[in-house]
Parts: sequence; structure tokens; C-alpha cells
Amino acid sequence: MSFEDLNLNSAIIKAISDAGYTVPTPIQKQAIPELIAGHDVMASAQTGTGKTAAFMLPALHLLATPSQARSRGPRILVLTPTRELALQVSEAAKKYGKYLPRINVVSILGGMPYPLQNKLLSQPVDILVATPGRLIDHIQRGRIDFKRLQMLVLDEADRMLDMGFIDDVETIAAATPDTRQTLLFSATLDNAIDKVATKLLKAPKRIQVASQKAKLDNIEQRLHYADDMSHKNRLLDHVLRDENVKQAIVFTATKRDADTLADNLYSQGFSAAALHGDMNQRERTRTLTRLRNGGLQVLVATDVAARGIDVADITHVINFDLPKFAEDYVHRIGRTGRAGAAGIAVSFASNKDSAHLSKIERYTGQRIVSHIIPGLEPRVKPRFQSNGPKSAPSVAQKRKRAPFSDQDNRPAFGAANESGRPRSGQRGRPFDQENRGNSFRSNSSNKAGFQAARTK
Ligand code: AMP
Repeated sequence: MSFEDLNLNSAIIKAISDAGYTVPTPIQKQAIPELIAGHDVMASAQTGTGKTAAFMLPALHLLATPSQARSRGPRILVLTPTRELALQVSEAAKKYGKYLPRINVVSILGGMPYPLQNKLLSQPVDILVATPGRLIDHIQRGRIDFKRLQMLVLDEADRMLDMGFIDDVETIAAATPDTRQTLLFSATLDNAIDKVATKLLKAPKRIQVASQKAKLDNIEQRLHYADDMSHKNRLLDHVLRDENVKQAIVFTATKRDADTLADNLYSQGFSAAALHGDMNQRERTRTLTRLRNGGLQVLVATDVAARGIDVADITHVINFDLPKFAEDYVHRIGRTGRAGAAGIAVSFASNKDSAHLSKIERYTGQRIVSHIIPGLEPRVKPRFQSNGPKSAPSVAQKRKRAPFSDQDNRPAFGAANESGRPRSGQRGRPFDQENRGNSFRSNSSNKAGFQAARTK
């Protein structure tokens, strides 16, 4: 199937061709015809599957026909959980809509000045991409007219649920016309998402693309046992000095740790910078631009800030601290292996993380293979062993692997659950999770160096 077969407007096809896309991805193949036919759709698709184009192309196709409604308000509204994702969606809208006449894309995000947003909203808007909290503010102040709204997209609905945005999302949906077409995209479609869909969607077509397991198959997952912080730092240095590392994202548990680690790496000669929720929007955008244009080799990030980052050259993701939730592990490592490329995900863990690792392996249905780097062996013998299902080796695992040849292929223990669903109690974590956690990472702190890295 080609994009031409999807009956999209020719101006959109031209932009897709400029983007270098030759065939639609599975989610695009399935979702686009249903959306053009006017159906509501709920789809399980992770970032990296081409889901943004799956909803943006039909949205732009709608815009190719002028609206009859007498209003200057948005015709398409996309709600996203984070500012970064919203900016990526806006960029995608501009990229795919560049040959359509006068498509005005506006982003309304928390942390940005109100006067500028008021100005943007006073002009005719075609596509509005927003985070829920700030949008509610503008709706309550009567600044948005939804009379001509035709399509509402809930992007990463599972994350909006996790972040406690669902009440806001429902309030926003209630302010839009009943005649709208509603789309819901989520990494997983579970009971909680079904409840949201029942409230907001009408007879939706349900689309499920490649499972998470298949999605991770191009990512080689490695585990390093670390005795303590200094051991983690040495392991990190070793991993980052591998010549195969083009660009890497290192995940920490807290914002403060992200700053300190970026600072340490910078002082060790890496072009490194932090990305987290305490930085203002300008700083974040600047850092992401540097990452995208290759000016930054190592991004040290927290979960919330790094969600949705889509940079093709990220060859490595390193979990300096394991994520709190198994779902976040999948989101984190999905920052590498973009658009079908191979990627490497390295996790550092100590004995106290064993139950946590087992949970992650059950969730992904995949084993994280432990590696030992000669000269950097753990002093403390690991108490735990991989608990993952004996899945077939991934594409990446089958590849000849270079520097870590001494992998430890011990037998799995314990029961493995292929379906690996998160427990319902894992929902609803506090929004400020990244504020908490360890605060002991203070070795060789160099604030000045870090600031230079961040603002360069
Ligand atoms: P997403 O899942 O929306 O985050 O998209 C992941 C990446 O795939 C982005 O870099 C897109 O530019 C790219 N992409 C989307 N659709 C296609 C396609 N049909 N062919 C090739 N790349 C695509």
C-alpha cells in the first residue's frame, strides 16, 4: 500500500514525499482510512510507530475543505500530556501541512507567557495543540471558540491518565461540539483507557498495532550490576566512550540528579546537558534543538521531560537509575531505535533493584541480559538473576556484538507473565515524581561548567 492509495489530498502527499516517507507504517495503514471515513478511532500505538502522522494526515485532509462555520476557533484540537510532545506534534502539523494554503498551527502550553498566547488565540486557528491545564485556563477565560471544531485528538491518553489530567480532558471535551470526530492514542488500551473512551468516543474503531514486545525488538537491552554511585559513574563513562555511541540519553530519578550528572559529564569532556521540568520552556527548547541538530552528545533527563523525544541519532539510552514504573522503562528505551534503527538500552542496577527488574521484564516480556565489563566487575556478587521469559533473541541481540562480549546468559528463574500488564495501582503517580528520590549525587559538581553546557 502506498500513501496515494490512502486517498489523501495531493498537497499532503507531496509533503510526505518531501519527508522521505515511501510507505505508510502499520498504524497509518489502519487508522487513516477509518479517519477519512469519519469514524472515531482508539488506537494502541507507541511513539516511534508513526502515530503522529496517523492522526495528523487525516486532520490536514479535513482542513483541505474549508469550514462552513462562522468562527475563527480551531478546527482540530490535539491534547498531549507534555510540552515536548505538543511541540513535536505542532512541528509535524507544519511539516505535513506545508503545501496546504494558510494552515495556522498554534501551541498552547503551560509555562509560556499568557499575553503571547492570548495574541495567538485572537487570530484564526486551524490546529490547536495544547497541554490540558493551560488550555482549561483559556477556556475558562472565554478565549477559545470551539464552534467549528471538527476533530479532537487525545495523544498519549494513558500518560494523561497517569498524570492526573483526565478530568481536565473531559472538561475540555465537554466544551467542544458533539459532532466532533474523536481519536484516542495510547501506548496500551486497558480498562482505564476503555472507560475514558466510553465517555468521549462514539462507536470507535479499535486499532491495535505491534505489541510492545515487537516494538522493542530492535533494541538490545543490557544490564550492568553496580555496587554504588562511584561504580555507576565509572560504568557510565565506559559506556559513553564506546565509539558506537552517536548520541545518548541518560535517565536519572530526580531533576537534581539530572543537573549534577550533566554537570559531571560536562566536566569530563562530554557535550552534555540536562532536561527536566524545572527548566523554563526556552531552556528546554534550546536543549532539544541542540540534541536534534547534533550539537549535544549526551542528554541527562527525567522521565516526564524526555517523553516523546524523537531524535534519529540516539543510539543509546542509559538508565542510570531504573524507572519507578515498568511502563516508563518502555518509554525510556523507546527513545532509541527510532524509525526501525537498532538501539542499545543499558540499565544500571544494584541488588536492591531485583524485584523491580523482575517487574520490568514481566511487563516487556523480554529479558534484560546482564553484562560485565572487564576491569569494572561488581565487587558485590549480584543476588538476583534475569527473570524474563525466554524470548527469542531480538534482532539486535542476533547482531554481532562488539565491546561487551562476556555477557552472562544465566537461566531465567521464577514465573514469567507474557502479558505483563502493569498493576492498576501503578496508575496515578504524583506529577512531581521527578522531585523526589536520591539527593546524594554530589561528587565533582561543577555548576559553572554545567550552566555553560546548558546555555551554549
Ligand atoms: P511517531 O511515532 O509519530 O513519534 O513517529 C516516529 C518517527 O517516524 C518520526 O521521526 C516520523 O518522522 C517517522 N515516520 C512517520 N511516518 C513514517 C513513514 N511512513 N515512513 C517513514 N518514517 C515515518
